[in-house]
Amino acid sequence: MNRSLFFLATLLSISNLALAQQSAAAPAHHHAPATAKPSADKLWTDLLAGNERFISGKTHAYNVVALRRELASGQQPNVIVLSCSDSRVAPELVFDHSLGDLFVVRTAGNVADLVGLGSIEYAVDHMHPPLLVVLGHQKCGAVTAACSGEKMPSRNLEAIVDKIDPAVTQAKTYAKSDNLIESAIKENVHQSAKDLLANSEIIRDAVTAGKLKVIEAEYELESGQVVRLNPSGGQN
Ligand SMILES: [Zn+2]
Repeated sequence: MNRSLFFLATLLSISNLALAQQSAAAPAHHHAPATAKPSADKLWTDLLAGNERFISGKTHAYNVVALRRELASGQQPNVIVLSCSDSRVAPELVFDHSLGDLFVVRTAGNVADLVGLGSIEYAVDHMHPPLLVVLGHQKCGAVTAACSGEKMPSRNLEAIVDKIDPAVTQAKTYAKSDNLIESAIKENVHQSAKDLLANSEIIRDAVTAGKLKVIEAEYELESGQVVRLNPSGGQN
């Protein structure tokens, strides 16, 4: 090797070294790596703490610009939320969490249809989040429509109501007419949680293996509070 080639080779290896050092010195990812996931219970406690901040109006001032840049290289959310599309029930807001924290699937009536299940399966398969929250809410329009028994004006709307109907049937076994909707809302959270396990092998396997916990909850519109429901079905 002549001297100029040797010089060039040395220069290249120095610049490679500098690049390697630069990437090693890059700031650690905001979220824990897949090997060190927090427990589902810890994540739920964090969600409730965020909900308390939301209720009191003392929410965190997230640096969304820094978060956005940091997360551009990849996401590692630890929580999946299946919630209603209702504009008053945005999970990131009601749990005072930010970009990259929650993998959210929203459908009217928080129903777990095929695409919703597929979206959740994607998250379970690729990001291994320890917690999945099914979040219903008071005065849900989709559940109210299902309780009305009226025919929907399109087959797409009918598809939503069809998914909620078993919850209405269950609620009718014990609820009086003045609290049928509220009971059906809770039953519908149970129904969605049951559908997740019954209709998805990936979700079922993760739960059976103890890698994923499903928590059922309801959001109260006026207070802003998220209340955990008993997963048994029936009254609670
Ligand atoms: Zn709703």
